[in-house]
Amino acid sequence: MKNRAILCCFLFCLCFLKAQHSHSSKQALTYPNFKDYVTLKTDLHIHTVFSDGNVWPTIRVQEAVRENLDAISLTEHLEYQPHVADIPHPDRNRSYDLALAEAKAHDILIVHGSEITRSAPMGHNNAIFISDANPLLTDKAETAFAEAKKQNAFVFWNHPAWHAQNPKGDPILSDFQKERIKKGELHGIEVINSVDYSEESLALALEQNLTIMGTSDIHGLIDWDYTEKGKDRPLTLVFAKKKNLKSLQEALFQGNTVAVYNSLLVGKPEFLIPLIQASVTVRKASYLSNTQVLEIELENTSSSDLLFENQMEYNFYNSSPVFTIEKQSIYTLMIKTMVEKEYIDLKLKALGAFTAPKQHPVIEWNISVEK
Ligand code: ZN
Repeated sequence: MKNRAILCCFLFCLCFLKAQHSHSSKQALTYPNFKDYVTLKTDLHIHTVFSDGNVWPTIRVQEAVRENLDAISLTEHLEYQPHVADIPHPDRNRSYDLALAEAKAHDILIVHGSEITRSAPMGHNNAIFISDANPLLTDKAETAFAEAKKQNAFVFWNHPAWHAQNPKGDPILSDFQKERIKKGELHGIEVINSVDYSEESLALALEQNLTIMGTSDIHGLIDWDYTEKGKDRPLTLVFAKKKNLKSLQEALFQGNTVAVYNSLLVGKPEFLIPLIQASVTVRKASYLSNTQVLEIELENTSSSDLLFENQMEYNFYNSSPVFTIEKQSIYTLMIKTMVEKEYIDLKLKALGAFTAPKQHPVIEWNISVEK
C-alpha cells in the first residue's frame, strides 16, 4: 500500500513537472505535409548572448517550441562577440550545447551552426550541421569555408541585399561566392531575412541553383519583434522524408524549401504549388437551390493568409476577383457557372506567392460538385 502511495506521488510529480515544462501557445504555426514529404518549420539563423543577441539559448528553444517549430539553429557570429567580457566562452560550441540540453525535453531539433562573419564581398554566411564550431574561427574566410565543407556543413549566404553591405539593397555575386559555389562550399541563400524580402536574391538562387531560405536573424525577443506586431517570424519550410536531422540536411542540400514571411511565400514551383494546394481544402461544393450559383467552402489550414486572383472564365457572385483566405479560417466563394456543372477546376493565381521575381503560380483544385 505504502509503495503504491509513493508510486502515485511520483507519477503525479512527473506529470506536474511535464506540464510545467510545456511551452506550447496560441502562436503555434502549422503548414501541411504533401506527397511523401514531412513539412518541417525551421528558423536556421538565430542569435543569443553568445554573440550579439540579447537572450540565453534556452529562451530560443522555448520560443521555438511555443511556435511549434520543428528545428532551429543558433548561429552565433564566430568573430563578433560583444558580450564576451561578461560571458567568456572560449568554446564556440557553448550556445549549441545549452540549447541541446534544453531541447531534450521537447520535440524540436537543434542544428549545430555558426555564422562566418566578414565584410563585403564575402559577407555573412551560416554554416549549419557542423560538428565543431572552433576550427571555423580562422583569419581567412576561404579557410573557414573549406573547414565547413570538411564537416559536411550546409552553408548559406545571409542577407545578400543588406543595405549596410550593399547600399542599393542590390546583392552582388562576387568572385568569392562564384568560387565557393564552384567548389561546393555554398549551397543556399536568404531571400527573406527578418522583415526584408529580396527579389534579386531570389533571382540569384534560381540562377545559381542555391536553396531558397527565409530566417528571422533574431537578436531580441520573437514576441517583441514579431508577435506583438501581429506578425510571425520568417521561416524556411523544408520538405523532408522524415523529421530528423539527417533528412532535414538532405532536403536542404536538395533545395526542397519554401521561404515564408506571413502572407509571402517564395519557392520553386514543384514545392510552392503543392504546398498551397494542400493548405486549402474544399469543405463543400454545391449549388444554391434553384440557381446556377455554385457555393464552395474553402478552408485555409496554414498559418499564412493566402491572396488569390480568379483565373477562371466564370465570375464570382460574392467577391471581387481578388480575395484573401485568412490563415486558419474558412472562406465561402460563390461562382456563377451559368450552367450546372458536375465538376469544376477552381483556378486561382496566388498573389502572395513567388516562384521567380514578379511571377506568381496558378493553383488548381479539381472539385466535384455535390448533388
Ligand atoms: Zn546573423
